Amino acid sequence: MTALTSSSSGPRVVRTTCPYCAVQCNFDVHVENGLALKLMPTRECPVAHGTVCKKGLAALNDLRHPERLIDPLLRKNGELVPVSWAEALAYVRGALTPLLDSNPAAVGVFGSGSLTNEKTYLLGKFARLALKTPNIDYNGRYCMASASAALNRTVGYDRGLGFPLGDMAGSDLILLVGANIAETLPPIMQYLKAARDRGGLIYSIDPRATVTAKVAGQHLAVRPGSDGVLALGLIHLMKRWGKIRPTAPAHGLAEVLAQASAYPPERVAAECGVPESELLLLAKRYAEATRPLILTGRGAEQHAHGTDTVQAWLNLSYLTGHFGKPGGGYGTLTGQGNGQGGREHGQKTDQLPGARSLRDPRHRAEMAALWGCAPGDLPQPGLSAQNLLNACGQDGGIEALIVLGSNPVVSAAGAGQVTESLKALKHLIVIDFLPSETAKLATLVLPGGMWCEEEGTTTNLEGRVQRRRKAITAPGAAREDWRILCDLAAAVGRPQGFEYAGFRELQDEFFRATKGGKADYSGLSAERLDRASAQWPVRHPDGPDTPHAYAPTYPTADGWATLHVPELPAPAPARQLTLTTGRLGHHYQSGTQTRRNTALLAKNPAKNGADHGVQVHPETARDYGLRVGEEVILRTAHGQVTLPLTLNPGLRPDTVFLPFHWPEAANLLTDPGTLDPHSHMPAFKATAVTLLPAHAQVFSAARGRLEVILG
Ligand code: SF4
Repeated sequence: MTALTSSSSGPRVVRTTCPYCAVQCNFDVHVENGLALKLMPTRECPVAHGTVCKKGLAALNDLRHPERLIDPLLRKNGELVPVSWAEALAYVRGALTPLLDSNPAAVGVFGSGSLTNEKTYLLGKFARLALKTPNIDYNGRYCMASASAALNRTVGYDRGLGFPLGDMAGSDLILLVGANIAETLPPIMQYLKAARDRGGLIYSIDPRATVTAKVAGQHLAVRPGSDGVLALGLIHLMKRWGKIRPTAPAHGLAEVLAQASAYPPERVAAECGVPESELLLLAKRYAEATRPLILTGRGAEQHAHGTDTVQAWLNLSYLTGHFGKPGGGYGTLTGQGNGQGGREHGQKTDQLPGARSLRDPRHRAEMAALWGCAPGDLPQPGLSAQNLLNACGQDGGIEALIVLGSNPVVSAAGAGQVTESLKALKHLIVIDFLPSETAKLATLVLPGGMWCEEEGTTTNLEGRVQRRRKAITAPGAAREDWRILCDLAAAVGRPQGFEYAGFRELQDEFFRATKGGKADYSGLSAERLDRASAQWPVRHPDGPDTPHAYAPTYPTADGWATLHVPELPAPAPARQLTLTTGRLGHHYQSGTQTRRNTALLAKNPAKNGADHGVQVHPETARDYGLRVGEEVILRTAHGQVTLPLTLNPGLRPDTVFLPFHWPEAANLLTDPGTLDPHSHMPAFKATAVTLLPAHAQVFSAARGRLEVILG
């Protein structure tokens, strides 16, 4: 039996979870003399069953990377220089105390979907109780926020997958809408393959013929941003073919069906840019399937109309009676390691722990009672992520920002503008373990702990809560993040509520804080999780967990679902080139870890810019007179980049793809000002773009100079 604890001082094995994606594979970390020497997948992992991906296997490399932050760094004379914790915390006191005394809203907090549940909880408590600022949000706004918004407004809560992954094998039709599972969540492919081996069909609906599309075998290459229209077309045909039989009574059924009447196949095929015959074939297969499953990813969700796009797919699932049924229904494929728990426990600007609402007087009273304050002392909701970043350094906006485990200089929309905003702050305090691009702009960097240097829990994409166990101690003067937050509370003179005797006291408080919330973890404990992982809600220590969520009645005012009529934009002009951004299999998010990981880089040497270059279809390259490896300019209304060109025959000719893991690349081109009205998600996945050879700019500049000379 594998040793699961970290108490022994000799050679030992500690089981913990991966630092990267939302699958949350389990590893056994082999430790000797305080060093993590080896990492092995385990067949006992309830999610991946012994499989892992290359990122997980390479995760040990990050722990002792030469650039690992091991001391606080304070900016002096323009340079970040090592200082003691005492000097760092004195800076915090001097920087924040005057702001907190006069205008706490001028202090912002920016968190992450990679934080454990306990850190998520503590960060929200720190913002509301110690700083008393309304302005806290996190990078999950850039992830699955649109799916979360659609689920919440339809059925009252949001668990990415309302069923265990194993159910997928029982589906006879799986639609992957904007989801490249083979590269982003590789162990999940085993469930897709199991469905296919039983005769199920897998469709990839994506402007790119991704690795997933190739494995799936069925690919519908829709135009970026048209996924919602496709769903409306399917609803139209289901109605025409007599396949409407809603899961349960719901509000809005008639209105949703009336809207779909306006989306006949010829219109939908034209707007989605697919042959009508392929649309009809997909519809026929959906109509005939007994357990069709719709899974959306970021490709469908990261739009200015992402919530409505998800809503359209959710409506289809609900109207045809599959939503919430085993093996079928709808789900969103959460991306970040704790993307699920990170959106439940209070780092969202409008949220309190347990997926409570900061706007609800009862929820405010419940948290105030736990935290020992008056409900009125808790701030109201403040700025959501992109607006928070946009407000940095602006008159009347944010003057000091605390960032925990996030790198918005790379990951935010309009990264160029966001960088300038962060530079305009009086104080930028970054807690991280490697010098991210955001940390390099900081006035103070505090060295935090990494994944196997901390205790906690994470919640994976199927709502499964698992223990993350501490295997080794953070190097140098680096500290566990939860301790740093408590240190900051003490530094600003507000230690009450942050004087934990140890991590266990914090963890138990976190579990208690969720009691009565929609995301109720109060039946959990470290001991229970040592016996088995559990899917929330878990309401009693001796009670069951909840593998299957989304059964009616729902936690809404009257127990009914409400289907909303999606508002979808007109299609882009036919000759418009559209930029879409996304991930590569060997990188993760803003690349702070994976761009430094020698094992990952060694396996994927850049060839002709294939690693981070601009991908276009060969026809597009030919039409624009461009050659492989040539430097090209991508220009949008928000910025411009120059990168090498690479060919991707699997792309639509009207689509340009750029991976988003690098600074000075994809997000310099995306729009920081247009957000989904419901989720506040930027439109990462569709930006009108101009493509031209780099020598055209040189020529243009030379011609401009010539014109000046000639008058
Ligand atoms: Fe598993 Fe995701 Fe980690 Fe890969 S990155 S090992 S799929 S948790």
